[in-house]
Amino acid sequence: MKETVLSGIRSTGNLHLGNYFGAIRNFVRMQHEYNCYFFVADWHSLTTHPHPRDLHANVKTVLSEYLACGIDPEIATLYVQSDIPEIAELYLLMNMNAYIGELERTTTFKEKVRKQLDNVNAGLLTYPVLMAADIIIHKANKVPVGKDQEQNIEMARRFARRFNTIYETEYFPEPEGFSFSGNLIKIPGLDGSGKMGKSEGNAINLADDAKKIHQKVMRAVTDAGPTEMNQTPPEAIENLFKLMEVASTPETVIHFREQYAKCRIRYGDLKKQLSADIIRLTAPIRTRILEIQADDAYLAKVVKMGAEKARISASATLRDVREIIGFRKF
Ligand code: AMP
Repeated sequence: MKETVLSGIRSTGNLHLGNYFGAIRNFVRMQHEYNCYFFVADWHSLTTHPHPRDLHANVKTVLSEYLACGIDPEIATLYVQSDIPEIAELYLLMNMNAYIGELERTTTFKEKVRKQLDNVNAGLLTYPVLMAADIIIHKANKVPVGKDQEQNIEMARRFARRFNTIYETEYFPEPEGFSFSGNLIKIPGLDGSGKMGKSEGNAINLADDAKKIHQKVMRAVTDAGPTEMNQTPPEAIENLFKLMEVASTPETVIHFREQYAKCRIRYGDLKKQLSADIIRLTAPIRTRILEIQADDAYLAKVVKMGAEKARISASATLRDVREIIGFRKF
């Protein structure tokens, strides 16, 4: 039997290069070989309190961008999370076996507490439980994600294992993070630190036009240049090399790393090359995004088909789970 793969993305803004290289590219490559489920996580997006006016548009954006990256909705199951009520019920059931202490210790939760002190809601705390429900509702084995999600995947494994232990069953497989490169990756931002992210304001979006990409790359943080031969680059410069490693050819990366090692690097040249390579990669995706976004009838068809397929698998799991927990009909 084919292994099941699942991945999802919050509908909180445009997809960026981090989403693409961390998650989407991997699962686009997997859709022909595995039983694949991809979803737009609109419930997850509520933790940041989007205005009702924007909620639907955000889902439409992410859905169109997913499709433009090459997900084939005839082969894979592509759906919107809130169309599958079974996920909400499984989330409720899984919450009973998730402990406050372990949720409070999650890195992503601690980060949110730091960043949005005025909105530390319970949804943020139980985010890993909803994520576990998203994954195990289809009994997924592999989850293409970036490195930032490693701990949440570990929590999903733990919740699946705990369910199996409590109910003395082998029902849920323990899901694992997946990347073709072998290690989960983190795409850095252009601001000299951390990761590329929607809320960090340091991202190159797949929908950005060539001019915007060029501007963003040319403004990326650099320094005065290396002062010694074979020096280790500081984080801001290493970030640019990391972006090159995913967007450019290996020869280009070697060339610029050598220039750096020999103290001959010209950051202007490096940035021009990097922006040209990113534009080459994203331009066809951007064209598709614009086409798909203008086609509401197509999007409606995709979402309906996806919800029907996803609910078949989700309702079968939920039926089994209720039975295992001990719910019986009168
Ligand atoms: P998010 O945009 O936080 O909803 O993340 C959606 C998916 O993109 C998850 O699988 C993340 O791990 C992945 N992702 C987001 N940002 C990055 C990044 N900078 N590098 C690698 N993967 C990322």
